[in-house]
Amino acid sequence: MKKINILGIPFDNIGKDEAPLIALSSVEKKAQTLLVTPNAEIVQCCTEDEIVKTAVCSADIILPDGEGVIIASKKLGTPLKEKVAGVEFGIECARLAAEKGYSLFLLGGKSGVAQKAGEELKKRFPSLNIAGAHDGYFDKNGEKNEKVISEINSSEADILYVCLGAPAQEKWAYANKNKLKPKLICCLGGSLDIYAGNAKRAPGIFIKLKLEWFWRLLREPYRLPRMMRLPKFFRTVKKYKKSQKRGIKNES
Ligand code: UDP
Repeated sequence: MKKINILGIPFDNIGKDEAPLIALSSVEKKAQTLLVTPNAEIVQCCTEDEIVKTAVCSADIILPDGEGVIIASKKLGTPLKEKVAGVEFGIECARLAAEKGYSLFLLGGKSGVAQKAGEELKKRFPSLNIAGAHDGYFDKNGEKNEKVISEINSSEADILYVCLGAPAQEKWAYANKNKLKPKLICCLGGSLDIYAGNAKRAPGIFIKLKLEWFWRLLREPYRLPRMMRLPKFFRTVKKYKKSQKRGIKNES
């Protein structure tokens, strides 16, 4: 698959229709695949934190969940096809899993959220096999972590959604993937809250105007410090572009 490098992150240039099919082929091939969906905030975080960058770059499939990344890809002269929202990816992947008979384990969210998300997904896709669900509030370094992993493994789920928020979920998946048996591991942020009906996606008009981030900020102002990474991200893109140009001049 062709990779497009955005500030050191090798994104896969695949659209939202093909992404779930490509990801699910790992279950057929019985080869483990880790999938992440970083937005501009997380890409910026990767430029500042080597541990996060290593975790994100260890993924086999990296999809751009944000218009910021798409704009940056155009500015850098290597345009990515389109934004692939993790929450939409997760729905389509569940639909296909139901069709193909693959089972799904949901990890993350506050108490009861993963169970509710599973029930709602099952209402939508009645043949979907929810192998298990677990909340995301446990000691990620202690004994409880091992218990959660063995619960996931003994469920024999083919697919695991890890929804612990970014970048914690990428770090968790990176640290534990060798112990995990599901063939497809997808880091999908706050998706379980949306599937469970506890959080809503932005109205269509905001998504169309590429202002989903603004809607989230209005509803959840505590996100402001995190979102301040966005202007920083565009400054980093500008610097990167300048250094690229300088590199080309030096070569000629
Ligand atoms: N979360 C979790 N465990 C934690 C911290 C957070 O399961 O230790 C969950 C939280 O309940 C929420 C999700 O992670 O469901 C983060 O949602 P957010 O919308 O912030 O996702 P992001 O913007 O990081 O993709």
